[in-house]
Amino acid sequence: MNKTPSIVVIGSLNIDIVVEADRPPQMGETVSGSQVHFIPGGKGSNQAVAAARLGARTAMIGAVGGDPFGAELLQSLRREGIETSAVKTVSGTHTGVASILLSQGDNQIIVVAGANGHCTPADIDRHLERIGQADAVLLQLEIPLETVQYAAQTAKRLGKAVVLNPAPARPLPDDLLRHVDVMIPNETELYLLAEADERTELADAMRRLQDKGVRTIVTTLGARGAAYLTEDGAFGRVAGHKVDVVDTTGAGDAFNAGFAYALATGETVPAAVAFAVKVGALAVTRLGAHAGMPTLAQVREFAA
Ligand code: ADP
Repeated sequence: MNKTPSIVVIGSLNIDIVVEADRPPQMGETVSGSQVHFIPGGKGSNQAVAAARLGARTAMIGAVGGDPFGAELLQSLRREGIETSAVKTVSGTHTGVASILLSQGDNQIIVVAGANGHCTPADIDRHLERIGQADAVLLQLEIPLETVQYAAQTAKRLGKAVVLNPAPARPLPDDLLRHVDVMIPNETELYLLAEADERTELADAMRRLQDKGVRTIVTTLGARGAAYLTEDGAFGRVAGHKVDVVDTTGAGDAFNAGFAYALATGETVPAAVAFAVKVGALAVTRLGAHAGMPTLAQVREFAA
């Protein structure tokens, strides 16, 4: 890896309100909870923090509400060295919220997009110069699809590497797929996008998605690591690392940022996948989506 890469993340910023209780309430019932945590999150901001921790020059384009949560999120991104001048504050709406109920080792989540829903194609046009300075542009699906599509198209026109993490899972128009250089789904997202049933072999499902116009596909496989299918049809796997799992929140986000970082430094797809598998593995050993993201030194020291 030979230079400091520059990454622009276009996506969501949320506050995760995590409530812990012994059991979830039935509809219409009230139960007492034991703890509540307010944690910065959202796939966009998670990926920005992961990229910045690795040492990328990182800028974020997105939106927060005119409430204390928004100000707090911006402050925490700045503390990570992330350039936030392209994150707008939308008065009259709230910052995106993920309301997460943890009980009996399981969770129920309700996401309310809030300001994330106000991130528009005009915001992309306003920050063309910033996008023009990037080596790679990192996208997810927690802002309006129209904006994701316009961002991919614009970044491609500017000659940038476009990396899309198609989460949360939803069908996508072919016109978006054609503008994506690297798509990074997990297994569920892959099978949905490829319109493949679960009996389909992984490599075949990835080929089906590639036939829709995506150049390179990388599928994350949790503890089993990841698989890739390159533009010229080479399929390969990188095994996962055995680690003590503490919190898997943000593992996919760590992986995406790790991959974009390595790609932007000029690594090949297999090398970038191997790097990203390490970043993902380290992220699950620590609590918190932002707090758990590893530094470049920690990834390099990780010999497993
Ligand atoms: P998502 O959270 O988006 O579903 P995955 O669960 O596939 O994504 O995880 C993304 C990456 O994080 C994996 O490719 C792997 O590198 C790492 N990872 C996730 N879970 C584990 C685990 N239990 N042990 C080791 N690595 C893991």
